[in-house]
Amino acid sequence: MILRLRENKDEGSRCPFCNQLIKAPESIKTEGSEFIGGRCDCGTVYACDPTGHNVGEAYLDALSYVCGDDWNVFSSLSPDENYREAVFNYDLKTNRSWKVKDIRRDYSGKIVFVKMLKKDK
Ligand SMILES: [Zn+2]
Repeated sequence: MILRLRENKDEGSRCPFCNQLIKAPESIKTEGSEFIGGRCDCGTVYACDPTGHNVGEAYLDALSYVCGDDWNVFSSLSPDENYREAVFNYDLKTNRSWKVKDIRRDYSGKIVFVKMLKKDK
């Protein structure tokens, strides 16, 4: 395990929307809860589910965080129109992510990315 960590020292996970390396997720407090995640320079927000069993929750955490905990914004969002999302398998210890083959059967930890699309006003 230690050897692997050393090997992968220079690698990490990349933001699927801008391809930049993301910072290792950290604990983020929001109004209603707390989650493990972060924000990419491009504005994409990510949340981790280290267990792989609560992906839905991580997804909601990321979404509400990207809305700034504003329930009105949150409830008016619709996928593809307002935001885009991506889910990957994720290992919190090494900050590495890889493709999900089957989300119903793959119980690795997960990372959820949410990117708001710019609205034309
Ligand atoms: Zn990004």
